[in-house]
Amino acid sequence: MAWDSIIGQELAKRILQEHLATARVAQAYLLAGPEGVGKRLLALEMAKALNCALQASEACDACHSCVSIARGVHPDVHGLSVEADADRIKIDAVRQMLSRIALRPFNANVSVVILDGVERLTEEAANALLKSLEEPPAHARFILITSVLSGCLPTIVSRCQIIRCPGLNPQIVAEFLKGHSCDEKTAGYLSVLSCGSLSRAMAWASEWEGYQRLLARFEATGPSVWLEEKLPETRKDLTWALDGMVMWLRDVAFVASDGASWVLHADRAKVLDEQAQSMDVDLCVETAFQLLALRESLEQFVSPRLVATLAREQWLCLLTGLLQK
Ligand SMILES: [Zn+2]
Repeated sequence: MAWDSIIGQELAKRILQEHLATARVAQAYLLAGPEGVGKRLLALEMAKALNCALQASEACDACHSCVSIARGVHPDVHGLSVEADADRIKIDAVRQMLSRIALRPFNANVSVVILDGVERLTEEAANALLKSLEEPPAHARFILITSVLSGCLPTIVSRCQIIRCPGLNPQIVAEFLKGHSCDEKTAGYLSVLSCGSLSRAMAWASEWEGYQRLLARFEATGPSVWLEEKLPETRKDLTWALDGMVMWLRDVAFVASDGASWVLHADRAKVLDEQAQSMDVDLCVETAFQLLALRESLEQFVSPRLVATLAREQWLCLLTGLLQK
């Protein structure tokens, strides 16, 4: 039951269950994949199974250990992630966690570290973790999580067994959204827009009106709306806006190359058709790639204000071409 409660990620679940069943649990795992696809749930399930009274490949969800891990109060399961008001995980937090697992577990088989955001460790923090991974305490297991594998210290990656957690199938996302009071049309729309991330799909659903306002910007053929309205200020809002911009340009490119059936914003077919006829499609695709690079730079802690300004410049360049036609 326990593993079944996690949506998708069948391969990851199978690998972890098999390791538990055959007593081949690695000292350190690195769960890698986009945000919102179930990595943290997998880590928690693994921590439960490792310390469950049943000692099987699946947690019972009823024993004292399972219940306290699920409630986040187990003394031997240590979670660490980036704090809400910070960009990085600093060395003090890592040292504190490592000092806890240096001791024998209080009342568990093994101590479990769940570190979410390996790419966000400062250099010193990453090196401190690496040292512990090189000489891990026998009674400790590490479950590391990242959404940016390329941003992790390669020496940390090489010490871990990597478990890939890809984006979820759009159908799974759509079903999930429909179960959370989303109508069929919006659910279908968001299941593609979210690129297989449940958290992103839910965020889009809760910001649906904002997204409609964003679409009005994409539809504009002049620069005024971009110059007069405020740019997104937070990392979250900006990521969301950049995703929308890329999806819109993707649609323009599809319409321009007779791929209208692949279009996501099908209800805006008329505007997309007009833009596909008047925009330079090569520039459109190039702009989409530049926006993706900007989105990546946002994950590497470049200031949101700078990224927002550069993204607007990219879009205005595209509009300039359009206005000259
Ligand atoms: Zn249990």
